[in-house]
Amino acid sequence: MKLSKYIITTSIEDAKETVTSKMTIIYSCLSNQTIVVRDEVFQKITNEDFYNLDERLITELQNSRILIQNGNDEFVELYDYDKVTNDNISLFVNLIESCRSGCNSCSKNNTISRPKNDFVNSINSYIEIELIKKNLKTFFLTWKIDDPTEFIETMISISESNLRITDMNDIYYASSLICEGEFLTEKVFAMLFNLCMIKKYHITLKCSNYESTEITIKNILSILDNFPFRPQDGIIFELTIKSDKINDVFNIIDKFSHAETQNRITFKFDFLKNNDTSKDELAENEIECLFYAIEKGFIQSILPTRVNLPCAATDQNSLSVDKNGNLFSCNALPLSTPNIIENNLIGNVSDDVRIHVHSTKFRNWMLELRENKPICYSCNLLPLCGGGCLLKREEGKSLGCPTFKYNIEDRLLVSYLNQKSSLNECIVSYY
Ligand code: SF4
Ligand code: SF4
Repeated sequence: MKLSKYIITTSIEDAKETVTSKMTIIYSCLSNQTIVVRDEVFQKITNEDFYNLDERLITELQNSRILIQNGNDEFVELYDYDKVTNDNISLFVNLIESCRSGCNSCSKNNTISRPKNDFVNSINSYIEIELIKKNLKTFFLTWKIDDPTEFIETMISISESNLRITDMNDIYYASSLICEGEFLTEKVFAMLFNLCMIKKYHITLKCSNYESTEITIKNILSILDNFPFRPQDGIIFELTIKSDKINDVFNIIDKFSHAETQNRITFKFDFLKNNDTSKDELAENEIECLFYAIEKGFIQSILPTRVNLPCAATDQNSLSVDKNGNLFSCNALPLSTPNIIENNLIGNVSDDVRIHVHSTKFRNWMLELRENKPICYSCNLLPLCGGGCLLKREEGKSLGCPTFKYNIEDRLLVSYLNQKSSLNECIVSYY
């Protein structure tokens, strides 16, 4: 047996009555399980010296994928897992030509675009053919629109069609929206929630734009105050706070905390880099804000969990459609270089689906990882990250590593302390 290469560890001193022991927290990026052992036990495991170790501990370490059999190629296992076919499909309807689908690594200037006249009909029949032909069971649709009122009729027509098709064919349908919060008034929200069945809203608060941020906060608080949500409606708003000052972020968290919105909001933090700040400092700010939000009662995931793919661009079951009906394997492609666009264009919703090209450059990322072994191949965070933003990489900007790369050990510590204080059973401790 040997230690898996996909683990993260950090040390902690644990005081029990008069005795203080040094402990190692081990997190498996494959199973997302945490095991805490004494430092000397960890040393033994690292040296593959299992003599005299508790058998229950060894079984637990194996079950958690922290210990693996010698000769196992974990990357192959990761790659094979990703070949499992899914029975779901995700469509990103992008009327603004930028991505911001979560990684925040590839935002571009937004351009408002008008869909083509036959956009609604073409996309409705494309969705119907895809869902029925492939016998799919789940359909996720994400809208990316600055001002939803500009496209409300388009959104309602497409949503009504989706609801009809999914209802008739027993397919689960879920929809979310990425928009500018200043346009999301109570009236607009009611239409989107009731007619388009949009249950999740991703909004970026840019602290540098004070006026827009204040309007957005006012809109969200007024929706949360007045809209008749049911308990099962779950968390509604995912807010990304973009700032270069930590106090601005604390102030925003405080506003939502005083309004007692903890069960409807989660936060992401995006600290802006200037010439004086290092990536480590940005990552420190992020963890401080994460901790602050948790202290205020918001539900935040501290540790990243396993992803099977880096992002939608590499997923055979994810597509992005632009205002012209072009289908891409990346949410931000329309503004990239002609060569990158061509390598990742799937086709058009009006084309016969038989001429669509599914083997695009980004979708072949797993093959590229296995055959050319770029730096991500040997990174212990690969199961949590998948390989970052491929567009950024392809455009030669950077690797696009997520911020958790720079604060993952702090996250592990915060997660451990948090779970320990709430007597959470997810952590297995061998003292
Ligand atoms: S993008 Fe960065 S963090 Fe992600 S796998 Fe590659 S090297 Fe690791
Ligand atoms: S490669 Fe992925 S993260 Fe990057 S822009 Fe495309 S969809 Fe977004």
